Amino acid sequence: MINKKLIRELLNESACSHNEKKKSSCDKPKPGATSGGCAFEGAQIALFPYADAVHLVHAPATCIGASWETRATPTSWEGENNVVMGYSTDITTNDVIFGGHKKLEASIEYIVAHKNPKALFIYETCVTAMIGDDMDNIASRMQEKYGIPMVVVHSPGFVGGKNLGSRLGGEAVLHQLIGTKEPQEIHPFGINLIGEYNVTGDMWQYTPILEKIGIKIVSTLAGDGRIENIQMAHSAKLNVIVCAKSLITLTRKMQEKYNIPYISVSFYGKRDTTNAIMSIVNAFGDAQLIANAQKIIQEKEAKLEERLAPYREILHGKKAILNTGGNKSWSIASALQDIGIEVVATSIRKSTLEDIEIAKEYVKILMKNPAQEQAQLIDEHQVDLLLAGGRSLYTAIKKRVAFVDVNQEKKISYGAYGGLENLAIDVVRAIENPVFKIVGTKAPWEQ
Ligand code: SF4
Repeated sequence: MINKKLIRELLNESACSHNEKKKSSCDKPKPGATSGGCAFEGAQIALFPYADAVHLVHAPATCIGASWETRATPTSWEGENNVVMGYSTDITTNDVIFGGHKKLEASIEYIVAHKNPKALFIYETCVTAMIGDDMDNIASRMQEKYGIPMVVVHSPGFVGGKNLGSRLGGEAVLHQLIGTKEPQEIHPFGINLIGEYNVTGDMWQYTPILEKIGIKIVSTLAGDGRIENIQMAHSAKLNVIVCAKSLITLTRKMQEKYNIPYISVSFYGKRDTTNAIMSIVNAFGDAQLIANAQKIIQEKEAKLEERLAPYREILHGKKAILNTGGNKSWSIASALQDIGIEVVATSIRKSTLEDIEIAKEYVKILMKNPAQEQAQLIDEHQVDLLLAGGRSLYTAIKKRVAFVDVNQEKKISYGAYGGLENLAIDVVRAIENPVFKIVGTKAPWEQ
């Protein structure tokens, strides 16, 4: 059941460094905040990569459209991929008056009879929270009847934005899944990847490296995730928060409950990927593991430098502006710097206070209103390249600078060493593409 105390705790996370000084709030809801994605959206995006589970949205049919399949999060799950279809209880006015519990029960019965899910995530939304359906009760009865986990995610959109929603998703997983299954054996170097969603297959760029070093991925939340694995997440020896700090509450609580320490890393760019791998092995402090890591990193970096050499010549001296959100405000900036690009400014519009602190270490100019600032900065600093979401393409065309789409909708991975080469290729293609210089000019008959 959602309550004020939990929301307050999630908004003033004691493990966030900015909250040590003052209760500055991690993601305080502001008027209009949900227009950039509500809490339900955040929760569903965070848990959606579990393709062996069905995600049932207890809401009017309109809610589901907001977050369903908005990101390319590939899975290697060989059973039925349950996230290619959206499931909603389709609450109507009639249900608002008489209650939506019968529809919820019927939907669960249908899913269990026709699909073969390893679990059900059942999302509470604005309407079903207000009409007061007792979802916990229905879920626990159904769980007992069918013997599969029915995880209620209390995420009505009105409580706040996307960031808070992913924390609520983490709460549901912590209390209803983690620790509900025991592994056959415990690996001495087992880790959980928390906040890694495998967007465009980012995770697959570095998990083979970690495995080669001798580290076992016990579970993920939630990239290419499996329900059975997250149930055994309490058997890992280390939690690794990947880029996003939004799930730090989950890792703090796992430390308190299961004595699992956590570290926070980024796998974007050469420097940060190397730092991430070394941070993981150093956390274990095993000499052999550290030696393995050093050897493999040396090989990977040498190969990467060879492959990057032709692109470095083209990119030398180029300037870029980065207009993206959240942790990408600094992680992509770091990757761009690694391929020799000067990052003039980065957007911090959707970044957490933690991300803003990190972004300051990488880039001098932080844009609060990128839509207004970026055009002027392109002129002032004679920028060559704009990396942003699709909406900024018009600015690039108007200013005749190259453009690369780096938002969630991108289709290629920029993660780890392999992804850095992909980023270099995309940036070079954009810079060498004459279309950005031509398309903003007048047509011959207009001159
Ligand atoms: S949960 Fe609420 S804010 Fe979110 S999409 Fe549904 S109605 Fe809108």
